[in-house]
Amino acid sequence: MIVNMSTLATADEITHVIERIKECGYQAHLIQGAERTVIGAVGSNGRRAEIEALRAAPGVQDVIQIAHPFKLVSRQLRQRYTVVDVSGVKIGSGDLVVMAGPCSVESEEQLMETARGVKIAGANMLRGGAYKPRTSPYDFQGLGVEALRLLRKASEETGLPIVTEVMSETDVEVVAGYADMLQVGARNMQNFSLLRKLAHCARPILLKRGPSASIKEWLLAAEYLLAGGNGNVVLCERGIKTFETATRNTLDLSAIALVKELSHLPVIADPSHGTGLRSLVPPMSKAAAAAGADGLMIEVHPCPERALSDGPQSLDLPGFAELMKELGKEPLREVKAA
Ligand code: PEP
Ligand code: MN
Repeated sequence: MIVNMSTLATADEITHVIERIKECGYQAHLIQGAERTVIGAVGSNGRRAEIEALRAAPGVQDVIQIAHPFKLVSRQLRQRYTVVDVSGVKIGSGDLVVMAGPCSVESEEQLMETARGVKIAGANMLRGGAYKPRTSPYDFQGLGVEALRLLRKASEETGLPIVTEVMSETDVEVVAGYADMLQVGARNMQNFSLLRKLAHCARPILLKRGPSASIKEWLLAAEYLLAGGNGNVVLCERGIKTFETATRNTLDLSAIALVKELSHLPVIADPSHGTGLRSLVPPMSKAAAAAGADGLMIEVHPCPERALSDGPQSLDLPGFAELMKELGKEPLREVKAA
């Protein structure tokens, strides 16, 4: 970090800042120009927040950050991209990983039909909500543990690993007992006690971007997981709130490309929540892949018009199979029991 002194800073004020920088665990490097003095705080193990607080010290004009505040997720720390293994499916290895399934698990029939259909079309993982974060408390909230049992059953039949959302710290153990990967939903991205708990969970985590979160906030949320000991984290861009009302959210494709520059973690796109419109899912899936996404999360329902949640953005099974072909994915001939 760099502390920029005011042109009117006195020698005592400069000395004070140098002492504080040292007290905070950094080396102080003084650069004295003709008009002003600049002091670099150098080192990686100091107390960064206290250097930032020097903005309030007499004679200081500004404190400028040079390194990213997220250390462990940053490519400054690790150049090589991380590959996250979800029960044999490798995310970030170069192949586009497709996670598909219903927004909510509604019944055994609905889930099994979807699981078989997406498997035949070439999907790599099955998604499905058991605990649903709904804007209204009067909307379908998910089948809970019953849905987790159905997801496990579908996984056993198709061989597809499952990803499902965990909404509360109190549910982490039970969800981890059934799911191969735990999803942190957009609304929970900054639920720090949930993140701390998941940092100690043995399962990989899919961390969705909050609808109003900056890229920095998103990567700092991932930092909680890595700092707590869980390095198996996949990021998911699922659209952000903007002034636009024609789409449900605005899928931020530039975030995908930028996160690939800033972080070694895999990043996938969710064009279903990102657009809210079925017709936009195929083009935005291809756009996300072109932007560098390591995978896609796509909502699929055997009969979207009857879906209990997110029907308007769900593809039906023929629509999903068509998209998979366009993405160059090979369909399977039949589903064999795993
Ligand atoms: C979901 O994936 O079903 C979901 C609720 O997504 P998000 O948290 O991105 O809204
Ligand atoms: Mn949904």
